[in-house]
Amino acid sequence: MGVVETEKELSVYESMAARFDVAARKLNLDEGLCKYLRKPNREIIVHIPIGLDSGQLEVFDGFRVQHSIARGPCKGGLRYGPNVTLDEIRGLAAEMTWKCAVVNIPFGGAKGGVICDPAKLSQAELERITRRYTAEILDYIGPERDVPAPDMNTNEQTMAWIMDTYSMHVRHTVTASVTGKPVDLGGSRGRREATGRGCMIVCDEALKRFGRDRQATRVIVQGFGNVGSQAARLMHEAGYKIVGVADIQGGILNSRGLDIPALIEYVAQHKTVLGFPGGEATGNLEILEQDCDVLLPAATESVITSQNADKIKARILVEGANSPTTAPADDILFERGVFVIPDILANAGGVTVSYFEWVQDRQGYFWTEDDVNDRLKHIQVLAFNDVVAYGEKHGVNNRIAAYMLAIDRVAFSLKLRGIYA
Ligand code: NAD
Repeated sequence: MGVVETEKELSVYESMAARFDVAARKLNLDEGLCKYLRKPNREIIVHIPIGLDSGQLEVFDGFRVQHSIARGPCKGGLRYGPNVTLDEIRGLAAEMTWKCAVVNIPFGGAKGGVICDPAKLSQAELERITRRYTAEILDYIGPERDVPAPDMNTNEQTMAWIMDTYSMHVRHTVTASVTGKPVDLGGSRGRREATGRGCMIVCDEALKRFGRDRQATRVIVQGFGNVGSQAARLMHEAGYKIVGVADIQGGILNSRGLDIPALIEYVAQHKTVLGFPGGEATGNLEILEQDCDVLLPAATESVITSQNADKIKARILVEGANSPTTAPADDILFERGVFVIPDILANAGGVTVSYFEWVQDRQGYFWTEDDVNDRLKHIQVLAFNDVVAYGEKHGVNNRIAAYMLAIDRVAFSLKLRGIYA
């Protein structure tokens, strides 16, 4: 019997809720706690008026969803995009709670978004949107409350603007108000590579389980932004053979292995992997179905669905992106024996090093890159082994095991705290 009994494709929030329900049932979680944990603590909707460079006034809609403060301040990215929805942000905020709990760091989950098309906005317009968005949610964020970080279409510069806006309002510099900042402003060494590095760490652990070595392992990466390009670079350096890479415009394949440093240089110039001389062209969705041992989706959500899950050839799926697989596709992958390293474990390197950044900012003492990488490896290897052991003990797949472990930890904190009324 499938884990989620539905043929319908689910949204990010619905997929999260479906997996939550399965895990909560397996844990025999109290019905009241289920109701509590299924919903976010707080959802903030703001309308952001901005004078465009043309002089015209435009209003953008923005969200910040804070799912849980049971284990500490909320933590989660801020994304910009024309298709951002409150439902997606709500689902991703809950996923952040489970992610922080899987790697056992003292945060709850949040997520933010602004509906805008960064490709059509100047840097000055993006700065004004970011500062006004920050001002609108100011009372609800801060090092003890909710700490934003970069996500799709936001970056170190966006975080510097948020940090500055927050600091101007409270009249002193608060570097711990965001993570993913430039290193010169209190950012952590190793943060830029952290999510991609974390993907490699958990992939290495999976290879150990299957007695495989890196040199004999062919990898396809979908998405060549922060996560995808860093994962591809680090895995290439470590000996993996990267046989395919795609971005939003399309993909390239080379069964002998792509020259990743040359590809990174090519993308810096051409802004896409398309046309790279060392590979043959394919589509950005077709690439998911090509021959490989490890598939690493690192682009966007819901790319592996009930429509294509039976065509995936990889034996190991490392979810670099958030929610790349819909809940109905989970069942198909599980039945086909694909070893799924779920997003809340696979891409937790980013939030783990964000936690290190917050700790360093609060201490005012900064670690070496080796310190950061060693501590990241320690945490992710532990979490990988916890999840796999939990799955074996309870007879569930890795995704449900990760959810069960996380929900168990959050529910335990809530039980200890009790309900304030
Ligand atoms: P990014 O904006 O830097 O890069 C996204 C990449 O995906 C780009 O190369 C883009 O061209 C490509 N892309 C977008 N849509 C695509 C499609 N339909 N098909 C193929 N390629 C497509 O974003 P990022 O920071 O690398 O984040 C990627 C994913 O990883 C997101 O799901 C994000 O939520 C998740 N994530 C990011 C971090 C982080 O530290 N940046 C941490 C955890 C999870």
